[in-house]
Amino acid sequence: MARVGVSEIHGRGLFATRSFVAGEEILREAPLAAMQDVANRAEVLCCGNCLAFLDVDEGVRTQLAAGCLTRQEAHRALEGTVCACACGEMYCDEACRASHRSHETLCVGKISDSDAAAHPLVAFKTLAVESNEILLLAADLLVTDRPAGFVSEKWDDVVRVAATLRGEPPEDGLEENLRDLVATAAALLSEATGRPVTPDDISRVVGMFEQNNVGVRKECDGFPPLEGTALYARCCSANHSCDPNCDILYEGPPFVPLEARLVANRDIEGGDELTISYVDENADTQTRRWATAEYGFLCRCPRCERDSVSSSSSSSSPDDDDVDCDGGNGGEPATQPPDDAVAATRRVERDG
Ligand SMILES: [Zn+2]
Ligand SMILES: [Zn+2]
Ligand SMILES: [Zn+2]
Repeated sequence: MARVGVSEIHGRGLFATRSFVAGEEILREAPLAAMQDVANRAEVLCCGNCLAFLDVDEGVRTQLAAGCLTRQEAHRALEGTVCACACGEMYCDEACRASHRSHETLCVGKISDSDAAAHPLVAFKTLAVESNEILLLAADLLVTDRPAGFVSEKWDDVVRVAATLRGEPPEDGLEENLRDLVATAAALLSEATGRPVTPDDISRVVGMFEQNNVGVRKECDGFPPLEGTALYARCCSANHSCDPNCDILYEGPPFVPLEARLVANRDIEGGDELTISYVDENADTQTRRWATAEYGFLCRCPRCERDSVSSSSSSSSPDDDDVDCDGGNGGEPATQPPDDAVAATRRVERDG
């Protein structure tokens, strides 16, 4: 249905192997790596392995969503209903527990309360939650030696390239802060797991996630939405367009493993490159272009180019066109960053 190949837009891309009509599913796939957001874990009980919603009593579900029950209390209430280890991780069944290989190494359930304060694994997880949760996903991938198959730039390089593309001066101390963070994380993870994890390993995995992963939001009737981050072998190979021909969708029944569905949003010919939007398509042109800097390029897709021309010749900048557009790579820094691009950089700084 779709194959990875060399793209005219940028590096690798994803291509249709036959024609599709609007609304048709092109592919569906399970993630290479996925994580439920830490804050979302307090509201929605999902399997630690496959991210299926857990089929728990509606009373527990409602109390949890309303904040009347903590995850730990829910965990105790569910003893015997779902398979769970002492740390509060929960699973659909024994098969999912056995498949969650990284958890055996990263579980804090066996650490006693008295040892917790000085334990490197607890320190690593605390560092991740307080700085950038993506470190948890990086650890998940690193301790099981799962190759992701994506180009892995170093985290500080990704941040520097984004700033350079926007024509911003280097943020004072930002790159050093990121390097310090990965050095600390690597030392803690090595000590905790007994396997050598270098700062470079962590920096490249996080850099790879920063440029390739996608946000997950799965909504099911009767549940708060599942929110997280995931990396997909094929969906994440699709290049960006501000007028993409595909969308990534997550809707589906609750009690099944999380899958991404790549769906055509218009008719597509066999051989066409499949594109998705990495940014908010409803944002104005400048905001979209600045947002793509996070991914290592300034969008110059036909929609962006045409919007730039029309905004320089008139004050209006139409966003509701239907011109086929599949561009989006490289280019010179634009003029002034919009507020949200600055906010994005600040967020990296804060998170880093
Ligand atoms: Zn499961
Ligand atoms: Zn555990
Ligand atoms: Zn664009």
